[in-house]
Amino acid sequence: MQVFKTKIELGVFIASCKTRSKTIGFVPTMGALHQGHLSLIAFAKKESDVTLASIFVNPTQFNDPNDLKNYPRNEAKDLEMLLEAGCDAVFMPNEAEMYPEKDTRIFDFDGLDQQMEGAHRPGHFNGVAQIVSKLFDAVQPHKAFFGQKDFQQVAIIRKMTQSLNLPIDIIACPIVREDDGLAMSSRNQLLSSEHRKAVPLIYKTLQKARTLAYEKSVGQLQEWVEETINDSGLLRVEYFEIVDEQTLLPISSFTAGKNNVGCIAVWAGKVRLIDNVTINL
Ligand code: AMP
Repeated sequence: MQVFKTKIELGVFIASCKTRSKTIGFVPTMGALHQGHLSLIAFAKKESDVTLASIFVNPTQFNDPNDLKNYPRNEAKDLEMLLEAGCDAVFMPNEAEMYPEKDTRIFDFDGLDQQMEGAHRPGHFNGVAQIVSKLFDAVQPHKAFFGQKDFQQVAIIRKMTQSLNLPIDIIACPIVREDDGLAMSSRNQLLSSEHRKAVPLIYKTLQKARTLAYEKSVGQLQEWVEETINDSGLLRVEYFEIVDEQTLLPISSFTAGKNNVGCIAVWAGKVRLIDNVTINL
């Protein structure tokens, strides 16, 4: 597995892939890898000739400086895991490499960033678009693989790719969970043992909500989810929104045949976790 730290080294590798007509599958990550990330590598390997991952903790997408400071980092273990997973190459730039100067670009997501993560983390998606557009530019992948766990992020990346006219297929991959249902996340390792025991309630509640959609209104269901999780005493729901899968706009009632997604953000102590499930009639 080749490891590149600069865009120039990476560029030579990418050019050689292109001359040999190899398709490139790209998996951008912020490191502290887990099986969720490795599932994206597996999808990329299946669908491309060459699989390239990146590891970069992108400062411009953190609206909370403490979150950036505490974000888990473990480069040596990440590289071992990527090697084991059969990844062909890794791009691990430092901050100066990606931001030689301040990125002042402002992206327009046509309203897709107005609710949920976009509303609660101001500037987050603009930062995501800044780094992903730079990485797309450096890697020039044919396909890029993202997790459905960050449901709104996938919509944002698709929108950005479309607006910039990039010939890149954006592929959304299913959420990988722990045995107790907790969606895998790099931030899970920051949970105290008490909070770790409490957090499976998030997915358990979302799953129950899917069945309750038949008997409750959207508003009642939102209230039920928030109460059920908050009643644990250890967890605090920041938002639970049921949105249209395409527009990402909150729905006011369930309609048969329409795909909706219930998206949640929960504070477990100082750790903020997100998850989502489809909720349809
Ligand atoms: P991150 O390192 O958290 O920025 O995530 C890098 C990529 O891995 C993103 O596309 C995430 O959506 C994806 N990802 C993170 N957690 C999971 C998971 N549990 N299942 C599937 N994909 C995931």
